Amino acid sequence: MSEHILVSVAWPYANGPFHVGHIAGAYLPADIYARYNRLRGRQVLMVSGSDCHGTPITLAAEKEGVTPQTIINRYHASFVDSLVALGITFDLFTQTYTDNHYAATTDIFETLQRNGYIYREVAIGSYSESLGRFLPDRFVQGTCPNCKYEKARGDQCDKCGQLRDPQELSNPRSTLDGAPVTFRDTEHFYIDLAKLEPKLRAWLDAQDRDYWRTNTLVFTQNWLREGLRGRAITRDLEWGVPVPGNDPAFKDKRIYVWFDAVIGYYSASLEWAKRTGQPDAWRKWWDPQGDQRSYYFIGKDNIPFHTIIWPAMLLGYGDRALPYDVPANEFLNLEGEKMSTSQNWALWMPDLLSRYEPDLLRYYLTAAAPEGKDSNWSWAEFVQRINSELVATWGNLVNRVLTLSQKNFGGVPTPSTYTDADKALLQSIDEGFARVESLYESVKLRGALQEIMALAQASNQYLSEQEPWKVVKVDAERAATIMFVAMQAVDTLNRLMAPIMPHACQRLHHMLGFDDVIAPQPHLEHEQDPEGHARPVVTGAYAVTGWQRSRIQPGTALRDVTTLFRKLDDAVVADELARLTTKN
Ligand SMILES: [Zn+2]
Repeated sequence: MSEHILVSVAWPYANGPFHVGHIAGAYLPADIYARYNRLRGRQVLMVSGSDCHGTPITLAAEKEGVTPQTIINRYHASFVDSLVALGITFDLFTQTYTDNHYAATTDIFETLQRNGYIYREVAIGSYSESLGRFLPDRFVQGTCPNCKYEKARGDQCDKCGQLRDPQELSNPRSTLDGAPVTFRDTEHFYIDLAKLEPKLRAWLDAQDRDYWRTNTLVFTQNWLREGLRGRAITRDLEWGVPVPGNDPAFKDKRIYVWFDAVIGYYSASLEWAKRTGQPDAWRKWWDPQGDQRSYYFIGKDNIPFHTIIWPAMLLGYGDRALPYDVPANEFLNLEGEKMSTSQNWALWMPDLLSRYEPDLLRYYLTAAAPEGKDSNWSWAEFVQRINSELVATWGNLVNRVLTLSQKNFGGVPTPSTYTDADKALLQSIDEGFARVESLYESVKLRGALQEIMALAQASNQYLSEQEPWKVVKVDAERAATIMFVAMQAVDTLNRLMAPIMPHACQRLHHMLGFDDVIAPQPHLEHEQDPEGHARPVVTGAYAVTGWQRSRIQPGTALRDVTTLFRKLDDAVVADELARLTTKN
């Protein structure tokens, strides 16, 4: 396995706060994977930031009568607060509205141009007569010529996954006001994907991609079957990265938001390196000959941009590492229905974080992760899983082991000879450790959590059979051995769980007498560009090692032993469901 792991996470549009689907689909799995790799002693670079360009932001600004910057500042700050509260350990969560990002985008554009992969062409633009302006492709809706889906977007059909041009749709209309869309000539720059196709196919075929998730493979193959063709990288809009070259014909046009957003993974790596004072440090994660692997955590609606377009851009640019894996997630529904931000059928993170401990959210979102298939947030299931799994299985195990040891032995007891039952539990924990490791390694995070909880269940079962609370009254030495075996199980499971529930795991690690950090936390810093543009960023110092089986020593004093998790009141279900409906 490689030494340098780049964890690239989807760039959220700064036109609304995070909802729970964003977190389940990209940010939480990315964080768990990053934390796991850091525990393994690997060098992780985890980056993302707010996507500040594009029509959703200019529309939000127009609606409120404010500048795009006002919208960006508001939601970028909200993203940063949610990420810090949830404990998402970005090395850098920045934004695309920075000098650094504009420079990186210009560099990639100009290099692609120099290398012969960019051309100019007069194209047909989607024009809204009712609004008197060009519309971005995704604001055009119509019937897909391939699968006949009636709500296909102008840029992509969500049903069959094919990328589209708006004029290919029948009955094209604007999603803004439902009025018909007409088409007008407009000149743009294009990336020559057809010319890049041989290189792209050679890269894809160079190794077996069986380790990719099924959705990643299928969306990629479907799209490649069509053959690649040029794709516009500029558009008629006055908000965004200016088109390099100072051509007056492009004065009122900007870089297309998809083009600069994917460059964000790279520009954020450069920005991170500059901030550390070692401006070349990013190279270890981007050198194609280096000891590195890059992972892109995204939702399934973004797959072709990360398995085809971004790799093609990197191949055209030259000498940069391509994605190793794109563990795209499916969608998280809410109470059985597709989330919809426009209809406010969503759970917003600032709201959830004001009522629930971050680890409860992290636990449930991992247990119900949309890995491999769509999944569902249900409040009844949330309360049931927290109460019967997290509290009754794991919390109860920890509580029994720590309080019994404290009460009877004043800390971690000293064992004598192990019985077969003791050895059997220790062996199953040991074997479980290897299985969990392999699940984390292949980004099967829900499976890893299931395995850990099964081991917690087995440990509870062991305690129930051994009954140390009875044994201690007649045979203190045997009771001490039982408690020491159980203490090792708790310590090992806590280490395995640290990537998923960092807050509680670090607390328990401290209770067990350890002074080192196994689950570091991010913090907010303020950053300022030379021209004065200021923004908060998420960053942190996360170097840890601790991916190991129990290190607990007999005679260790336990510290600040308290309950790890509290049961949720059953009334939570009705309260939360009422909130959902009253907001509509
Ligand atoms: Zn379709």
